[in-house]
This record gives sequence, C-alpha cells and structure tokens, in this order.
Amino acid sequence: MALKPLEIYKLLPKKNCKECGDPTCLTFAMKLAGGKAKPEACPYLDENAKTILGASTRPPVRKIRIGVGERAVTIGEELVQFRHEKSFFHEPGIFMAVTDLMTPGAIQERVIFVRDEILTRVGTDLRLNGIAVRSVNGSPTAFTKAVEAVEAVADLPEVLMAGDPAVMEAGLSVCGNYRPLLHAATSSQYWEMCRLAKKYACPLAIRADSLDALAELSGLCSAEGIENLVLDLSSLSLSEQLNRSTAVRQHAVSRKTPALGHPVCIDTAVSGLPDAALIAGVTKFGSVLICDDLSSASRKALLVLRQNIYTDPQKPIQITPGLYRVGSPGKDAPVLLTVNFSLTFFTLQGYLEASRVPCFMLIVDTEGLSVLTAVASGKLQETLVRDAIAKYNLSAEVAHKRLIIPGYAAPLSGRIEDATGWKVLVGPRDAADISEFLEKEWKG
Ligand code: SF4
Repeated sequence: MALKPLEIYKLLPKKNCKECGDPTCLTFAMKLAGGKAKPEACPYLDENAKTILGASTRPPVRKIRIGVGERAVTIGEELVQFRHEKSFFHEPGIFMAVTDLMTPGAIQERVIFVRDEILTRVGTDLRLNGIAVRSVNGSPTAFTKAVEAVEAVADLPEVLMAGDPAVMEAGLSVCGNYRPLLHAATSSQYWEMCRLAKKYACPLAIRADSLDALAELSGLCSAEGIENLVLDLSSLSLSEQLNRSTAVRQHAVSRKTPALGHPVCIDTAVSGLPDAALIAGVTKFGSVLICDDLSSASRKALLVLRQNIYTDPQKPIQITPGLYRVGSPGKDAPVLLTVNFSLTFFTLQGYLEASRVPCFMLIVDTEGLSVLTAVASGKLQETLVRDAIAKYNLSAEVAHKRLIIPGYAAPLSGRIEDATGWKVLVGPRDAADISEFLEKEWKG
C-alpha cells in the first residue's frame, strides 16, 4: 500500500538539514508521497526506512524492457488503475506472430511489414513494435531457422514462444544477446526457463490458469533470482481476459500482492476473438499484445486507440514553435499566426493545403494550449508574437507586413499591431472557413 505523507514523515530523520533539496523533512515527505522525489535524496535514512520507503515509492507495476536499440519496448512502471487518476506511462507493445511452420520468405515478409509500416497522426509516428516467434513444430532446428529468418531482416524486439526449454534455448542461441521476452515458464518447467532467463539476461513471461497459481509461480521465479517477469493470464474468453487483467492491476496498485506487480501479456490467439482481445488489451492493462494477423483497418484503429489512451491527459500534444511552409510560398504569400497545440496546427494545416494557397504558418509557443485558452489565460500575448516575428526573421521571408490572426485572438489585434508594426487581419474562428477567407480577404 502506498504510504501517506505523514506516515513517510515519521520514517524521516527530521533534521530539516535541506540536503535533499527541500526546506524541511515534511516537504520532502510530501514529494515522496507524490512520486516527485526519490528516497536516496536523503543521506540520513536508516536501513529500515530505506527498505520501507523503497518498497512504498517503487512503481507497483515493474518496469520491463524488451529488445535493444532504438526500437526496444519499455512496458510497466504504471502507478494507477484509471488513466484519469494520473496517466498511463508505457504503451503496450504490439507483436505480430510468425511460426516455425512458415517459409523463411513468408516470415520475412511479415517482419519487413512490422519494420517499415508507419501511421503518422498529429505529428507522431505510430508503429507496431516487434515479432513473436511461435514454436508449433516442436523441433529446436525449425525454431532456430524461424528465428534466423527474423534476424536476417530486422533488429526488432522479439518474443520467443516455446514451452520446451530445449526449443527455447535453440532460439536463444540465435538472438539471446538482444533481450527477447521468453514465453512462457509454467509450474512444470519454470526452473529451466529461469536458468535461461538468467543466462541470457532476458525478461521472462510466466503462465498459469488462475491468479493464485500465477502469484505462486511469480514467487517461485523470484526465488530463482528472476524479477523481470511478465504475466500471461491464459484467458480463454474475452470476459475472462478483462476480469483477470483488471484484477491483476488492482492487486498491483493496491500493493496487496506484490507477486502480481508485473506487466501483463495477452496472446490474442487464445481467446478466439483476436481483434476484440487486442482492443480490450489496449484499454484494459495489456502491456504485451501478441497477434497472428491484423487487418489494415484493425491496425489503424488499434494504433490510434493506443495513442489516445497513452497520451498524458495533463499534457497537450505540442508541436515545435517555428515558421512552417504550406506549399512553396513566395514573398507575397500570406502569413497565418496560430498556437502550438497539435490539433490546432494540423487542422489548420489541412485546410490550408486544401485551399491551394501557398502560405506561411507562424507557430508561437503557448505550451500546447488552444487559441481560445491561450488568449483567456494570457499565454498568447502581443510580445510573444513580436518576438516570434523577429526570431524567425519573417521580414526576410515576405515583402509585406500583414499578419492573419485566429478569430478567437481578435481581442489582441490592436496590441499586436502596436507591438509589431504589422497590420493585423482577423481570420475566421473556424479553420474550415480559411479557404474562403483567403479568397476574399487576401487575394481580394
Ligand atoms: S536530507 Fe533528510 S534529514 Fe535533511 S531535510 Fe531532507 S529529508 Fe530531512
């Protein structure tokens, strides 16, 4: 259970020496409780306090890394049951499966698809994450060949799926240095799988058909020295998947069952409803999602859903302030001012491209606030516009001094003119009307 500030305060030395960077032990306790400080910042904690505070302030869901390099997937480290309580931090990795019954060509076609396919949305590249290699044949040689086929074309994170430790070791002989997730240890062979996880320093998935059995297996693996565990809930139906993954997160965030404080893996082939299982996995606490196939429509829907759920609701998506071009604007092209809230930027950019009027977009830093909110809060001010015109050397780009501002920024028009010396044209409130505005007010 997470400790309250006063419970933490009782464990502190109460010297008020400020060496942790806080003025008093009480403020340090409050920061610790809010996850904004680490116990190590106080050099005077006794061993008992270190142990209790370490366990209390550690994220209840363990952080796990699968793979190496820039496509490596980090999962876990979640703090809450519901996204609105704080945020979800590490989006689930989506792994497309291949099997050792497939030809090397078919395996590589799928791997290249996962490696190269990108969906760009609000300035962010959305991608599938890795490859799961299933042992279906049961032969170490066939599994080795399948892993070799994957490795030949991509450095993607992998999940090695083999219940036989001998088959697993054959796959590890090819990619063991690249930290694949080993799937899965069970009560009948966990010590063998733990040996392999230890030897290759890989995370290990464990599988059991009830939460009690899973917690027991987690404890057994911890006793073998393996802490980087992922829980496969072996759900046979969608409702079972939802119930079990929700229960695991409850056990974890309440810290009642530390053995279940690990990310969850969902093999969507098991429930028989792969698309629904994927969506349920993204919305309800899945961290590793394994799927055999994914239509284009499902893939796009899934990636967008994941982006929406794993975007911090307290931080608006922003783009970098600057001067952006639409088409190839010349010296007489219009200049449109707007804010760096991504949705505003991309909506306006889309309508400007549709208007076929080459122009400049002057984007100022309102910390991701929309126009209306930035005007109301005083974030969008005439000095910000003046400084942006100078910073991006707008006078060298165009041979006029006319600036189109958003309709919702109309109250600032006079002050912007005074501060910049540019004539201000108040544009429409709705970006959908920008084409007509440019036709009438700019060209006209
Ligand atoms: S360093 Fe430790 S003893 Fe000193 S003020 Fe911070 S919490 Fe208190």
